[in-house]
Amino acid sequence: MSKIDEEKNSAQRLKEKLFAKKQNKTNSTDPEKMKKVYEFCEGYKCFLNNAKTEREAVAFAIKKAKDAGFTEYDYNKSYKPGDKVYVNNRGRAVILAVIGKNGTKDGVKLGIAHIDSPRLDLKPNPLYQSSDLAMFKTHYYGGIKKYQWTAVPLSLHGVVAMKDGSTVNIAVGEDEDDPCFTVTDLLPHLASEQMSKPMVKAFTGEDLNVLVGSLPFNSDEESENVKLNIMNIIFEKYGMTEDDFLSAELMMVPSFKARDIGFDKSMIGAYGHDDKVCAYPALMASLNVEAPEKTTVTVLTDREEIGSDGNTGMKSTYVVDFISDLAKADGEEPRHVMSKSLCLSADVNAAFDPTYASAYEANNSSYINKGAVITKYTGSGGKYGTSDASAEYMAYIRKVLDGAGVVWQTGELGKVDGGGGGTIAKYVANLNADVVDLGVPVLSMHAPFEIVSKLDVYETYRALYEFYSAE
Ligand code: MN
Ligand code: MN
Repeated sequence: MSKIDEEKNSAQRLKEKLFAKKQNKTNSTDPEKMKKVYEFCEGYKCFLNNAKTEREAVAFAIKKAKDAGFTEYDYNKSYKPGDKVYVNNRGRAVILAVIGKNGTKDGVKLGIAHIDSPRLDLKPNPLYQSSDLAMFKTHYYGGIKKYQWTAVPLSLHGVVAMKDGSTVNIAVGEDEDDPCFTVTDLLPHLASEQMSKPMVKAFTGEDLNVLVGSLPFNSDEESENVKLNIMNIIFEKYGMTEDDFLSAELMMVPSFKARDIGFDKSMIGAYGHDDKVCAYPALMASLNVEAPEKTTVTVLTDREEIGSDGNTGMKSTYVVDFISDLAKADGEEPRHVMSKSLCLSADVNAAFDPTYASAYEANNSSYINKGAVITKYTGSGGKYGTSDASAEYMAYIRKVLDGAGVVWQTGELGKVDGGGGGTIAKYVANLNADVVDLGVPVLSMHAPFEIVSKLDVYETYRALYEFYSAE
């Protein structure tokens, strides 16, 4: 070996020792592993197709939990290690807990994902007729690029509460034979003015009107005959009148089913990956974890996309109240339990998109197929509006994930001052627990059709499972 070769080799060895292992241990293509990945993602696709709204996600989770031996939590009862309980918060959020061998004594392990996704909510008084077309007025929910929600098929989901105490569940547009709905857009031939406007002005919130019918009730010269015809169809099907829209939660969501993406079927395109793609792994981890040391508390929460306000969001006390009940039952002081608790805030990050590379900083972005992404902090500007996980907690998480061979990476949300965003992590940190974000990188986040990699979904499940299982 020449002297030059020797020097080269020693540089190589030193690099291996000192440089970041670039968690770019990419995507195993090991067939055994990929079989598990694909199997897990079939379950995930089923969840996506059956849980487009937070209420549907809660119903799905509770059914799965009951099948796995979970029972509804009763704070008057005492529980022993291995017991599995759930709390249904108003049908829009759910807590699943597995009582640990040490109970709450050393804190609990929290995994929290959100099950609400951007969409078009119906306004309280939605139905109107214009130029002999029946339309719904909508109020968008969460951060959307409005033009993406035009000219795509939409389904109507939700619940109507009647004054007699009964409720009616609605889901129209999912079956092949169902009608669906859509927001119209202007043809390019006549859009020269629209297309010369900045994107935020070209399409406004009040333009997000949904087409729901066109035929009149009869040939009378009566005004609003098309609206009458639609209201009559709705009445015959659901027994509701126009006033009942006032006590309803109705929303338009994309009608698409989850589809495999790419010739290699390595990815999934669907509505609502943010954050069902972390909610499903969290749900499965909570169902599969066996005899954990610390009690595990999995939360599928609501209202994250609009700031977590409200009694089913993470600014509500429902999660800390539940942990307090567990603590008291163990004879522990709730605030001491919280201060020792550890949390993975399971939420998505933006996957590096080569078409929009300038929005990202390549060394600190997450990538499709590089595994679960840990996001130390989110926020905007000079780290405003975020908790920032401590060095010690990051070290603990690295140890747990590396110890179990989980494929993971780190990423910031885009480049500095490029915009920003937040997760529920800060609300958990404000309770005096340790928390960091972990989840799946997503392409086209918040679009009606978002993309994730199957491998990343599976590794996020493994990360949550190993976190729950670790000491
Ligand atoms: Mn999210
Ligand atoms: Mn989001």
